[in-house]
Amino acid sequence: MHELDITKQLTKKIKQIVKENDIGKYNLRAIVELGRLSTFSKEPMLHYYNLIAKEDDVLSKIKLEITIKEGKILCNDCKSEKIIYDFFDKVCEKCNSINTEIREGRDVFLKKIEKS
Ligand SMILES: [Zn+2]
Repeated sequence: MHELDITKQLTKKIKQIVKENDIGKYNLRAIVELGRLSTFSKEPMLHYYNLIAKEDDVLSKIKLEITIKEGKILCNDCKSEKIIYDFFDKVCEKCNSINTEIREGRDVFLKKIEKS
């Protein structure tokens, strides 16, 4: 499962931020935004995070929360935007052009770390 790799990358980044800001003494929540059009799924990421966090002094105090970000395309012909839920739904609803590009919803990133 390739969620393991992305989760490891996220834990590395979380630990780095916690160390840089010296906030390891607090109970924290790490908010991760997961694009609906990315190739990752939420449940396996939470599963791997919990496994990794259990064995880690820093991460064991940090709860991971994953929010889903919808996909968005931009039409290159009429410049309108559309929310999409499926990677293949790339036709513009205004002008029916297929000359569109995905602008949001493909990435996974650590949005913020906050006190819980
Ligand atoms: Zn269009």
